[in-house]
Amino acid sequence: MIIQYRDKSEIDTSLLKEKLELISKSPTENASYLSKILLKALAFLFPKIELNTESLQEYSSQIAETVDALVVFSNEKMPEIKTNKPVVIVGNTKTNLKNKDVMFVHLKDDRKLLKVLQKYAKVAIGFNPNDIAFSKYYDTKMRIYFWNVLDTLDKMTISLIEKDVEKACTYLLLDRSRFEMHLPDEKEKISLKKMIKVYQKIMEHFPEYKFAEDKFMFYTQTEKTTANIMMLNEMSVLAELYAMPNEEERISKIYDIMCERMLTEAHELGYCQFENNRCIASRYTDGFPNSKENGCCQNTYKDRDKNCRFLQSDYSCKICSISCRFFACAYLQKRGIDHALYRYPLIDVTFGKFRKAEIVHDFFTPKEEMMKRLK
Ligand code: SF4
Ligand code: SF4
Repeated sequence: MIIQYRDKSEIDTSLLKEKLELISKSPTENASYLSKILLKALAFLFPKIELNTESLQEYSSQIAETVDALVVFSNEKMPEIKTNKPVVIVGNTKTNLKNKDVMFVHLKDDRKLLKVLQKYAKVAIGFNPNDIAFSKYYDTKMRIYFWNVLDTLDKMTISLIEKDVEKACTYLLLDRSRFEMHLPDEKEKISLKKMIKVYQKIMEHFPEYKFAEDKFMFYTQTEKTTANIMMLNEMSVLAELYAMPNEEERISKIYDIMCERMLTEAHELGYCQFENNRCIASRYTDGFPNSKENGCCQNTYKDRDKNCRFLQSDYSCKICSISCRFFACAYLQKRGIDHALYRYPLIDVTFGKFRKAEIVHDFFTPKEEMMKRLK
């Protein structure tokens, strides 16, 4: 498996095989955690996604043919698609636009934008991934952490690991420098939140655009970085959700999507590592939650000294509590499992800080109840 980070660094994990085998033979706490989780976490966080940019460009050009004008969220230049239609560029930075069929509207000037759009019966909306600030969603603590663990393991010699496996693994997992990374400066880029706000206004004012089937969303200047491909995926979900006129329905969908994603992550990474009903934190930490079975699903503040009322006999959860899904205990957080809400585009774009606080704190709450608070 080749892991790439922002297309700048790449590591062939098969070359780590010998080191990981050595680590997996040790039954000690951190060696066992590392050998069980590292490759799964990397495969999950750095998925190999193929993107055919040529067909994407062609698709965008075809869409352009079916509308009267294009709206492109971009700072720099004309979209790299063939079109003879008028183009309205919406961004932070005005550039020297020589073409009379291209006009610039500042992102803040949504009234002007809506006025301009009144001239057209049908528009397509696109964006330039290179100009959207996406690093805070891509360079998450988790992604940085696991990348650094991998990078450090890559540099470690076999003899150093052999000397003291637990010591090497503790250093790999718990050294604070695993969370360090210099991130790109994106101050000049378009904020995803602001962009979606403007997109939503367009959708509200011109419901007749309706963006039916393909929603007439297109992409320009697409570089094939993992971050950009992930952004395209998130954008298509956001475009669909924010074309919905009913807010409650939108929030309900976001709730379901996020619950599903968090559950998939928990299953694929298996970070709680249950053995005989006891999670890794309860097996290795002194004091709370040391003696507990069923990890966080037992002895909760709502159900003292017993299982949570929603825990089923097959250990699955009867409800979809978004707060529970996002939770990671201190033991896991120290080992890179982190679910900061502002790192998830769907959550960050949709909820203000008070509603994010509800998500963080309202554990053991069924969706129906949570929806009343999130509205
Ligand atoms: S999150 Fe809960 S169940 Fe998972 S390891 Fe931590 S205490 Fe255990
Ligand atoms: S509501 Fe939370 S604590 Fe209760 S069973 Fe479900 S996940 Fe576990």
